[in-house]
Amino acid sequence: MYDVVIVGGGPSGATAAEDLARSGHKVALLDRAGRIKPCGGAIPPRLIEDFHIPDEMLVAKITTARMISPTGRKVDIPIENGFVGMVDREDFDEYLRDRAAKAGAVRATGTYKRIDREAGVTKVIYRDKVSGNERELPCKLVIGADGARSNVARDEVPGGDRIPYVVAYHEIIEAPGAVGDYDPMRCDVIYDGRISPDFYGWVFPHGKSASVGMGSMVKGVDLKQATADLRAASGLADCPTIRKEGAPIPLKPLDRWDNGKDVVLAGDAAGVVAPSSGEGIYYAMAGGRVAATAAAACLASGRVKDLRLARQLFMREHKTVFRVLASMQNAYYKSDERRERFVSLCHDIDVQRLTFEAYMNKKLVKARPMAHLKIGLKNLAHLTRLVPAAYT
Ligand SMILES: Cc1cc2nc3c(=O)[nH]c(=O)nc-3n(C[C@H](O)[C@H](O)[C@H](O)COP(=O)(O)OP(=O)(O)OC[C@H]3O[C@@H](n4cnc5c(N)ncnc54)[C@H](O)[C@@H]3O)c2cc1C
Repeated sequence: MYDVVIVGGGPSGATAAEDLARSGHKVALLDRAGRIKPCGGAIPPRLIEDFHIPDEMLVAKITTARMISPTGRKVDIPIENGFVGMVDREDFDEYLRDRAAKAGAVRATGTYKRIDREAGVTKVIYRDKVSGNERELPCKLVIGADGARSNVARDEVPGGDRIPYVVAYHEIIEAPGAVGDYDPMRCDVIYDGRISPDFYGWVFPHGKSASVGMGSMVKGVDLKQATADLRAASGLADCPTIRKEGAPIPLKPLDRWDNGKDVVLAGDAAGVVAPSSGEGIYYAMAGGRVAATAAAACLASGRVKDLRLARQLFMREHKTVFRVLASMQNAYYKSDERRERFVSLCHDIDVQRLTFEAYMNKKLVKARPMAHLKIGLKNLAHLTRLVPAAYT
């Protein structure tokens, strides 16, 4: 009998498993294995610090972010006093799973099928990857960390099968080195309706390789063609392609993360990805941590309502940043004219400081005196078209 079975060994599940094992709980970590999670792999310093990521996991350290507008205007934002880390998910996820196992979690490899509750005992039923047989993991609680379009969320939590999402697609290419316009220490973010009518495109360096991709919620958008266009526009059309892959990015956290009984969700399974940026790794790990805290509290007290702590703790810390990012996406991702204005706004040193602090350290900080007022007024001026799009 396990205290907790965690379904899904991505960043959220592996973090929950490690935390629970370290605090002395009997834990099983189930992952189906065999597929590298499609991901740009950009992680902020707060993640590196909070979750003790060793330097050798970082395949690149990014020191500039370049915003590119529909008319081709480029705004370079230097990353002051630090860097954005890049990880390859194939190695990063396995490192986290292995760390959880070293802390005491038992690993199981196979595909989640369902949760049975015969004779009052909760059991996670899965198909074992090696034997092909159905096996069971009896437990007191389950953490559903099986990613976007989670089967655990679909089976157990109301609304878990109706989370809206962006479909993201990227190609992993051999990096060209520092030639042409490509800079192995710069991430490019492309706001252009021809690449994505409602999200953005990106070129993220990963040392020897790079991730080039885009996302969209709009049905009928040809993701592969848009990525081919982006590669051509970035001078990367001729780089050999290593992998092509796509996956959904959830857009809205669920209103409830637990089933009021014995299941709590974490990470993409709970719909938790930052609006506007699609950043999910940090929030998945933070979600895994609060799910572990809630599960431990529930096991200690015997009170099922303690499972709600996961969402409460997460929202207490991140609700405001999510709200600001969601309004930014609503305001600026609607048309090329708006995107042009958004890149214009990024010229402002105070906007750069505020957005980067929110990304790097997950905090909304106080800027220079009067800066918030100035940004607010500029924002208003752009949204009401009182200034031309090119105004900085
Ligand atoms: C193209 C793309 C680019 C992205 N770029 C970035 C980026 O640069 N930076 C960033 O922060 N975020 C990025 N994201 C988002 C980020 O990848 C996710 O938010 C993050 O991986 C969520 O972590 P998770 O642990 O919740 O889920 P996942 O990483 O999806 O992990 C889920 C795990 O569950 C396992 N699993 C699934 N179903 C089953 C099953 N039935 N049985 C057993 N195991 C199962 C899977 O094997 C997997 O290991 C990107 C996403 C996409 C699609």
